[in-house]
Amino acid sequence: MAIATVNPATGKTEMIIEPHSREEVDQRISEAASAAELLRQTSFAERAEWMRAAAAILDDQAEGLGELITVEMGKPIAQSVAEVHKCAKAMRFYAENSEQFLADVTLADPSTVSASRAWTRYEPLGVVLAVMPWNYPLWQVIRFAAPALMAGNAGLLKHASNVPQSALFLDTLFERAGFPVGSFRALLIGGAEVGAVIADPRVTGVTLTGSEPAGRSVAAIAGDHVKKAVLELGGSDPFVVLASGDVKAAAATAVRARINNNGQSCIAGKRFIVHTDVYDEFAAEFTNLMSALRVGDPLDPAVEVGPVATESGRNDLIELVEDARAKGATILTGGSVPDRPGWYYEPTVIADLPDDARLVQEETFGPVASLYRATDNTDALRIANQTTFGLSSAVWTNDPEEEEWFVANLDAGAVFINGMTVSYQELPFGGIKRSGFGRELAAVGQREFCNLKTVWKA
Ligand code: NDP
Repeated sequence: MAIATVNPATGKTEMIIEPHSREEVDQRISEAASAAELLRQTSFAERAEWMRAAAAILDDQAEGLGELITVEMGKPIAQSVAEVHKCAKAMRFYAENSEQFLADVTLADPSTVSASRAWTRYEPLGVVLAVMPWNYPLWQVIRFAAPALMAGNAGLLKHASNVPQSALFLDTLFERAGFPVGSFRALLIGGAEVGAVIADPRVTGVTLTGSEPAGRSVAAIAGDHVKKAVLELGGSDPFVVLASGDVKAAAATAVRARINNNGQSCIAGKRFIVHTDVYDEFAAEFTNLMSALRVGDPLDPAVEVGPVATESGRNDLIELVEDARAKGATILTGGSVPDRPGWYYEPTVIADLPDDARLVQEETFGPVASLYRATDNTDALRIANQTTFGLSSAVWTNDPEEEEWFVANLDAGAVFINGMTVSYQELPFGGIKRSGFGRELAAVGQREFCNLKTVWKA
């Protein structure tokens, strides 16, 4: 796959970028390794000052960067600009809180030696490789980079091949803000070159956000070299609406949960599981709202749904919907490709899915929602847990017992009650089952790439 910006709204190739040679990759890893040595000697206060300066660059350039994101991957412009500000906010959050998140912790002393002490401290691991996707070209990277750099690590970025201009912006961002040269470096390489970077002795760990095959490959190589890996893979999150829930509010939120980012978010609500008592009401409201969405040029501020990011992504959607249609599912709205250039797909709602439809098990990365009628709460939970994924989930209920039962029994890394899943820097983020392992964000995410050193003193 060429490293290139192809505007998904037009299909036009905007820029092709020459990949880095082996020598250039080696040079960049060396720079990162030198920067890691320097960074571990710096104080939280110094790093926080640089991190705040980097946040200010993002805020200052939010409009231009927003446009770049939209041209590279097609999300509506307001969402792109919001993504830039969200990054700046997370950077300030880690500038503010890292010292406390990584502070020494005094332990109960297990020894009998009088006046002895024990404690833990968090130290940086060194150079960490981030393999990142295109769906949030800045946010996915910053939510790794801000905590990692504030912990004193250096970062290498292997960004998705379709967002090279975002990668090039990130390549210089931290240096421009004052961080030592090489603290954060982009590698313009294809997926096939990633293994050699993980194997490099100067690289200490890897984090990947992306598909299950990519995650499996990266984790296997990391395992082979006994290096830490964090995986944030796909999801097919259940959005459960129970009879006690506010159906109208649930339907309105369900639309946002499904079509945000043109439907290409790992934590999007993808399977809408509704108690039979309120199913018809929810289905009618949800379908009306989905069919009323304004689809079009993502640079037009009035547009709510733009194209999906790549032609192959749209082909995946077409295949999943056609498979369901052929197996007898009901298309309540959408289900076809609009007649215009670019990689558009109509906002779609599909019901009455047979168990063997691929949509029941597979992730839909685009504006396609599947609807399930649950006979009771037990059935709703069964459907919610029936995929191999376990990223996040949402439950709409006004019954405290029902709420507790779903929180306790949903197979997911998170449960959002009477709302939709959003990634906030304050909350740990990550999944179970084939959605991956490890966590990002909050204190726990920052500690993933630290050495937890135990100290005992007589
Ligand atoms: P990929 O997993 O292919 O891409 C994500 C990143 O991994 C990119 O940087 C990619 O590089 C890299 N990569 C791909 N294969 C390998 C490999 N074998 N070894 C090392 N790195 C690799 O995602 P796609 O863009 O192809 O999207 C496919 C599906 O992945 C989506 O439909 C969705 O299900 C899921 N996905 C999930 C995301 C999430 O947020 N959890 C985000 C994006 C996708 P390159 O671009 O050069 O191939």
